Amino acid sequence: MLTGSERCLHNACGRAGLKILFVSSEVVPFAKTGGLADVAGALPLALAKLGHDVRTVMPRYASIDDAKYNLLPILDEIRVRIGEQNHTAYIKKTVFPDTKVPVYFVANEPFFGRAHLYGDGGGDYRDNATRFWFFCKTVLWLLKGLDWTPDVIHCNDWQSAAIPILLRTDPELLADEAWRGVRVLYTIHNLAYQGLFSLEEALHMGVSEDLWHPSALEFWGKLSLMKGGIVFSDAITTVSRRYAEEIQTPEYGCGLEGLLEDVKERLFGILNGIDTTVWDPASDAHLPAQFSAKDLAGKAICKAALQKEMRLPARADVPLLGIVSRLDNQKGFDLIAQVMEKLLEHDVQAVLLGTGAEEYHTLFEQIAEANSGKVSAQLRFDNGLAHRIEAGSDIFLMPSRYEPCGLNQMYSLRYGTVPVVRRTGGLADSIVDTTPEALKAGRATGFMFDAYDAAALWKTMQRALEMFKDKAAWRSLMRAGMAMDFSWNASAKKYEALYEKLKG
Ligand code: ADP
Repeated sequence: MLTGSERCLHNACGRAGLKILFVSSEVVPFAKTGGLADVAGALPLALAKLGHDVRTVMPRYASIDDAKYNLLPILDEIRVRIGEQNHTAYIKKTVFPDTKVPVYFVANEPFFGRAHLYGDGGGDYRDNATRFWFFCKTVLWLLKGLDWTPDVIHCNDWQSAAIPILLRTDPELLADEAWRGVRVLYTIHNLAYQGLFSLEEALHMGVSEDLWHPSALEFWGKLSLMKGGIVFSDAITTVSRRYAEEIQTPEYGCGLEGLLEDVKERLFGILNGIDTTVWDPASDAHLPAQFSAKDLAGKAICKAALQKEMRLPARADVPLLGIVSRLDNQKGFDLIAQVMEKLLEHDVQAVLLGTGAEEYHTLFEQIAEANSGKVSAQLRFDNGLAHRIEAGSDIFLMPSRYEPCGLNQMYSLRYGTVPVVRRTGGLADSIVDTTPEALKAGRATGFMFDAYDAAALWKTMQRALEMFKDKAAWRSLMRAGMAMDFSWNASAKKYEALYEKLKG
């Protein structure tokens, strides 16, 4: 699991490494639909570097290329009973590329041999509850097969919530001594996706009727896997401190605020890290020129190149606003739409990269068409362009209604692009607003507003546009942002402390 030098380093500090199983429905580089995959692809590696025996498990989807990632079968087939039916799981194994950190895959053709992870154009797959219940149950049998009992099982979002539910309620598992010492940490990446299913589906899966009450799995007549994860885990985390507080209120709690307040003694917020090797302006191969806080010359080249790529006039003096995002109400696009007209009365340029809600596709297409030379809307997924927008823009716009953590604002800071954000979740935890005091102390990194309304956003954008004219002040903002440490190492140490607390 560890390289020799890592093991030595670890032993030198005198602590015993922990055994951690990381369970996720998506993991970079194998399968990704959102930020969870980024976390699952980075945190286990950061934990392994700290000297822990960390292993990851995920479903084996049809989109995963066995040969490319060297997935090899291990163990005998596992028979898993779900309700009245028996299913068969096959286990495969590989390591994260260029590491020795293991990844197990739960394979079952009917459940996971499909075109997508959770659903297709017609919506979510109808048997998602059963699919992920099966996944979780198999994971527990897999551990038996491996004869490896982790100290902590780290579950993520509703797709792995059945693990704590089963561990703490299944009579067979409860009777087994080996599971007693195993602690479960459950991380909420976005409370809005709760894993809600019908009573019929719960019965079909064999969920015990004893669990069908509001203090266990029932949520207003539905089965809530998210709720089960919260109720039956030893600790709960979410991906920023601010979001951990926010979800205890009706505005952000999605109906679970009461429960989350009840468990607040074991609810913690740990900000996600970013992959500082992939998102590094000093070495980023997606950029036409590299740069750093010490030498910003490359950033001007990136701006001019981005303007050219987006068919905007190549001007250094004009403030260039960037947006890279899912086009979803969560991200504040209704506010952006409302301030667009006022913004375009000014001498500015704007670049948008995103996909999502049809209404925003249409709207931004129209805005770009009516304002060619000022606005460019790229309605697609394009990783390289996302990097070039982060590097070439002056201001990054992210006025989210809610934001559990958010990655793009951290990428922006690292690329010297000053964020304008709403004070919520991870945005509030990663950015220092430009007050006169913060600016003077060299701590200011961006611009924030509180109320979720267009007037507040516009006022804050005006503050940013005004300050952009003061080159010295702007450089101070850029440098302060670029100096911040959002590496996974810092976050992994917080998880490590929590695992140790749980084990203790
Ligand atoms: P969320 O997970 O809520 O969508 P985050 O800010 O946490 O938001 O992460 C979004 C990630 O997806 C970032 O890495 C961002 O660069 C990327 N992304 C979003 N939309 C696009 C797009 N259209 N093209 C390329 N990358 C995108």
